Amino acid sequence: MRRPLAVAALLAIGCSEPTPPARTGTYGFDASGDVFHWPTERLPVRFYAQPRGNLPRLVQHAIDNWADLFLYGEFTGTLVADSSGADVIVAADSAPDVPPDPGAPVYACSGATSVPSTDAGNRFTEPFHIRLAILPGFTPAQVGACLRRTAIHEAGHALGLFQHSPDPADIMWGPSGATPITADRPSDQDRRTAEVLYHTTPTLLPPP
Ligand SMILES: [Zn+2]
Repeated sequence: MRRPLAVAALLAIGCSEPTPPARTGTYGFDASGDVFHWPTERLPVRFYAQPRGNLPRLVQHAIDNWADLFLYGEFTGTLVADSSGADVIVAADSAPDVPPDPGAPVYACSGATSVPSTDAGNRFTEPFHIRLAILPGFTPAQVGACLRRTAIHEAGHALGLFQHSPDPADIMWGPSGATPITADRPSDQDRRTAEVLYHTTPTLLPPP
């Protein structure tokens, strides 16, 4: 007769003292104190990719990488065929449609995300713009691998991750100079940081 009581006691202890969520292992995401993430009612975020080479598939890959991190659909995105009405516009000179090079990452491309300005009501006035550029002297496969990583990184900025990670194992690592992004996908630390961001009250509002 004692065993059921012991089990019940153990269960009660387990339920009354849940493990608190880890708050370590994240990096900053605000911009001088301002916080942004896409609100639930604006999902899925509409991404437009210029129809150049492999670019639409690279952008879809980036959307999927971020959306797959979240357990409860806090972020979702979709490719749209028309740039008017898009939330994020992605442009590139070209994007070679070849399998990405599996070798060591090289600095064969660069990326930049323009965070829009805000109006008096702290609302973004226009879409986010992502620009990917190809650097000379590399094989199409090396460029393809670089664009694949960089598209995820820049999409992370458009999710609201406005800062860089100091850890090269993270997709949001901020390489300096001629140093490539080395992560193939968001890491556990990227996931934890994005989850904290999407459960933080934003101070900035999405574009109308
Ligand atoms: Zn960056």
